[in-house]
Amino acid sequence: MKRMSGCVCFAVPRKLIQHLADQSDDEGRALLQAQIKHSTGLRGQRSGLSAAAAHPEPATQPLQRRVYDAQGRTLLPGTLLRDEDDAPTRDAQANQAYDNIGIALQFFKSVMGRDSADGRGMRIDTSVHYGFRFANAMWTGEQMIVGDGDGAHFKGMAHSLGIIAHEFSHGVTQHLVKGGLGVVWPSGMPPTLKGEAGSLNESFSDVFASMIKQWHKGQTVDQADWVIGEDIFAPGVGKAVRSLKAPGNRQATWAQDDQISDYRRFSPTDDAHKASGIPNHAFYVAAMALGGKSWETLGQTWLKGFDKLRARSTFLDAAHATVDVAAALHGKGSKAHDAVKAGWKAVNVMV
Ligand SMILES: [Zn+2]
Repeated sequence: MKRMSGCVCFAVPRKLIQHLADQSDDEGRALLQAQIKHSTGLRGQRSGLSAAAAHPEPATQPLQRRVYDAQGRTLLPGTLLRDEDDAPTRDAQANQAYDNIGIALQFFKSVMGRDSADGRGMRIDTSVHYGFRFANAMWTGEQMIVGDGDGAHFKGMAHSLGIIAHEFSHGVTQHLVKGGLGVVWPSGMPPTLKGEAGSLNESFSDVFASMIKQWHKGQTVDQADWVIGEDIFAPGVGKAVRSLKAPGNRQATWAQDDQISDYRRFSPTDDAHKASGIPNHAFYVAAMALGGKSWETLGQTWLKGFDKLRARSTFLDAAHATVDVAAALHGKGSKAHDAVKAGWKAVNVMV
């Protein structure tokens, strides 16, 4: 058995689920708290599986997807619903997951020149209808799982391109950074994302989910909404899970969003979803300084920059890596080089 270095992250952070549980009636609270407990156990269980399963045969087709039906249970992967090139099924969530993973795969393939999460065309398996009214989605290190939502606060996740692209991007990071970017294994505890490296891992997923959304809609940086998870809440519950434009702005997100965008406020004990606001906002500032379409200049810069990172890299390492790549790709003193520097300076990672 080899330890997986994969993501141990759910789309909806524990703090947000707990916040909603606190506001629920007894039944709703019990459901969400049971899911928090289950999610913690799942991280350990799935991440302990053999690494072999994470490296299926290289693809022979342009895209390789499979969507399974977990049928409300937690056994993975469940029953095969839709294989690559199959016609749509009658299951709307299966089709939504299939389509959104296709968009993420196509973005990495055609825009980034990277064939699937591992760069070798690995098939992406997804199980929809995971668990009982499960209000989350996750990349397990081997596949994606998508819940139906609890019905009260969350509508489900499969239809959300931002959420699906975020989780898929964790699969990319897993293969990009040996040992897992910020993945920590406390003794006797499930693995978790910690420190600056863990926050960079979270941020990579938000940044690429944002670019994928913008690419899919053909949006410029001015047209983009710069949020993740704006489409998963039931009415009145929240506006988005995170904002890259204004991390921690509760008017733009949800009632207890505590994301930070200033490195001077960072503490090593910060949750990765909190401190990911720092690199998220650096990317946003760089993209706005450049204008146009975010992925055209900054996509390769961020991917190649993060490709240089190691398991315990810091924000400053990421800043230097992306600044260096911008200079290499576009020239020293180029607009791109200056924009990336300006991004990291805006969040006080660079001075
Ligand atoms: Zn994540």
